[in-house]
Parts: sequence; C-alpha cells; structure tokens
Amino acid sequence: MKIASCDILVIGGGPAGLMAARKTARKGVKTLLVEKESQFGLKVCGEAVSADALAEAEISPWESSICGREINRVLVYPPQEEKKVEISAGAIGYSGGYILNKMAFLEEMGRSALQEGTEIWMAAVPNQLVRHDGLFRCTIDIAKGVQLVEAKVVIGCDGMNSLVARTFFNRKGYRRISCLQYEMANCHLADPTRLEIFLGSNVAPGGYLWIFPKGEGLANVGIGTQGVPARKCLDKFIDAHPRRFQKAQVLSMGAAPVPIGGQIEELVQDGLMLCGDAAGQVIPLTGAGIHSAIAAGRMAGQVAAEALIEGDISRKRLSIYPEQFNETWGKRIADSLKAEQLIVKLSDQELNQLADIFTGQDIVDLANGFNLTRVGIKLLKYPGFAATIARGLL
Ligand SMILES: Cc1cc2nc3c(=O)[nH]c(=O)nc-3n(C[C@H](O)[C@H](O)[C@H](O)COP(=O)(O)OP(=O)(O)OC[C@H]3O[C@@H](n4cnc5c(N)ncnc54)[C@H](O)[C@@H]3O)c2cc1C
Repeated sequence: MKIASCDILVIGGGPAGLMAARKTARKGVKTLLVEKESQFGLKVCGEAVSADALAEAEISPWESSICGREINRVLVYPPQEEKKVEISAGAIGYSGGYILNKMAFLEEMGRSALQEGTEIWMAAVPNQLVRHDGLFRCTIDIAKGVQLVEAKVVIGCDGMNSLVARTFFNRKGYRRISCLQYEMANCHLADPTRLEIFLGSNVAPGGYLWIFPKGEGLANVGIGTQGVPARKCLDKFIDAHPRRFQKAQVLSMGAAPVPIGGQIEELVQDGLMLCGDAAGQVIPLTGAGIHSAIAAGRMAGQVAAEALIEGDISRKRLSIYPEQFNETWGKRIADSLKAEQLIVKLSDQELNQLADIFTGQDIVDLANGFNLTRVGIKLLKYPGFAATIARGLL
C-alpha cells in the first residue's frame, strides 16, 4: 500500500480542527486534515457565538453570509416565565454575538486553512490509528480505497466519539447530555435580536430549551435534557407556546450530544494532542463549545508546529498547550461545571426564587464561569437554598 506522509495529521474538520490546521500550516509545517463527512458543519448546532469567538477565528462579522443575525439580548425564563431575567449586551460587558450560518463559517475556516497550505481530505474516514517506529500510522477509508498515512504528530479534533481519544486517552468523567434541535420557519418572534432560554422540570429536565432567531421567522429551536426523551419535551413546549409557534413548520431536525462533564485531565501525550469536544472543552452550564474549541485549536496548533520545528514533540514540550488553555478556559470550564452541578439540583420553586434575586450579570458570571465568587458572596445574604448554593460556589 502506498504511504502518504505528513508532519501533522489533524483528525476532524470542526471549529477545533480547522483552526489547529490553519495554525500548523501557517508555521510551514506539512499538515493534512481529514474529515469523515463530505461537507463541513453537518452536525446540528444552535449556531450562537459571541463576537469574541469570531475575533478568535479571525473572521470578520461583516461577512453577512456567515453571521446571519446579530444578537443583543438574552432572556432567561425560569419555570414561572413572567419572572424572566434579561441579559443585555453592552450594559454588563457581555459582548453580544451572532447566530452563524455554521456551515458557511466552517467553509470559510476551511478556505483559510487551505490558503495557509493545509491539505484537506473530505469524506475520509480513519479506521485505525497506531504508533509505529516513533510515528503514527493511520489507515483511512477514502473514495479510491484505503490510504495509509504516516504522521509525526496527531491532533485529535474529532468530537464526542473521537477515535484519537478512544485509542489513546482516558476520558474518565466525560459526561454528555442529549440534545435535539428543529430548524423552524414561520415562527413569531417578538425580537429577532434576542436569544431565549427556558428552564424547569416541566420544560427541560436537567438541561434547558433554546430559541435562537435566524431572521424572517426562521429559528433554531432546541433542547438538552437528562433522563427524559428530548423530542417529547420539545414538542410539548412548542404546543404550549402557540403565540410563537402556531404557524411554524419544522424544516429540519438534528440530534447530537454535548459533553458537559468538564475538560478531561490529560490533553497531551508524546506526539499527541486532543482539542474541543473530544477533550470535553465545553462550558458545561451553557453547552457552548465553538469558541473554546477554536481557542484550543489555535493553541494546540501553534504549540505542535513550534515543537516539531524544534525537534521535540515530547509530552513535556506539548504540555505548553494545556498550560496556556488552562490559564483562561480551563478555569472557566471547571467553574461552570461547579455551577452546573448546583443549578441542576434546584427545584422549580427554587429556580423561580433565584430569578427574583439574579441580575443578567449574575447569570453571565455563573453560567460562563467568569466570577463565581462575586455571585456566591451575593447569594450569602439570602437564607435557605440560596445560602447553600453560595457555599458551593465559594
Ligand atoms: C444541538 C447542539 C447545539 C449546540 N449549540 C451551540 C451553540 O449555539 N453555540 C456553541 O458555542 N456551541 C454549541 N454547541 C456545541 C458545539 O457544536 C461544539 O462544542 C463545537 O462544535 C465543538 O467543536 P469541535 O471541533 O471540537 O467538534 P465538532 O464540531 O463536533 O467537529 C468534529 C468534526 O470531526 C469530524 N469527525 C468526527 N469523527 C471523525 C473521525 N473519526 N475522522 C474524521 N473526522 C471525524 C466530524 O464530522 C466533525 O466535522 C452545540 C452542540 C449541539 C449538539
């Protein structure tokens, strides 16, 4: 069998992999990215990103085909919906954001990776990855048959069911939540620049439900649940909200899990790195993982390329990537996980009471793991369950 060789093999063409490949190729390192699907961005996604995530991806928000709809506000509804809490961009330092056309966004990231010199194989399915004589050997099913690839470094960006993680890493504590989303047309949304999030045991046990507007009545309407079927809950919610959905129609449906158990402990080994969903790098309370995946891909790609150029791809050298990631994202993910574990246990009544106490800033700080201490100190002033949460946060 003919052997193709590269310096760095990136497995998976999502936000993490496309960023990692762009960065390694930019440093002049021979990079091959393999994506199992024939198109980027087929996985279902709410498509909400902050403006900061676009900056991290080095993509201009003025690319209108990519950034469908600008978002200025978020409304969070507890079970008693009239107690909703508003998060407004600007007022509290939340940078606002966009609902992406994620497919177009990833195609643009793919174009950038190609321009930097990455070779990309689409519809290429790796089926075995082994170490061999100090290199990695990967057999890959492609249209022409089976291709053997040899690489010095492998970066696993292959999502939840990562081949790289399953083969080489221990993902103890890796936990997922089931998600389902409809893309719906003819929705009646009062404000198309506003995200809506709904909580409660009657709506989304163990998770939340989202309505993300895409303009002209189009919306991503999705749900994450634990222990109950997501579809039944989503249909029930749609039936219970006729003002928004009376004339609405489902254009497409997709389901996929999101890892919400926090980042796994080990992200690198000799010649190996793991990024994005594959490594659990998702903000647990929100389930958002696009920005963190791009950040991880950027750091891992830069570190891998520099390590190769220096001739040291040991675990120690590659550990600069987790060190950099943990300085910012690692702590946020750990703090958001802490908050998620407290919030998920609350009764509907407690969620309603919390909505009376919380401001938009409190929700942003808690959900994103920005500042648990400030929220904890605030909650200490309240008796009962609020004080219990406070002690958990502090
Ligand atoms: C329903 C839902 C809604 C979401 N909404 C949002 C949101 O609004 N905002 C947000 O920030 N995050 C959201 N997320 C999370 C977000 O989608 C992920 O965290 C993010 O895409 C992770 O990027 P990634 O590159 O690590 O993995 P992925 O996006 O999963 O990409 C992995 C890529 O690798 C490919 N692949 C997998 N296995 C192999 C293999 N063996 N060989 C080759 N290729 C392979 C896949 O086809 C895919 O293209 C949502 C997730 C779900 C499921």
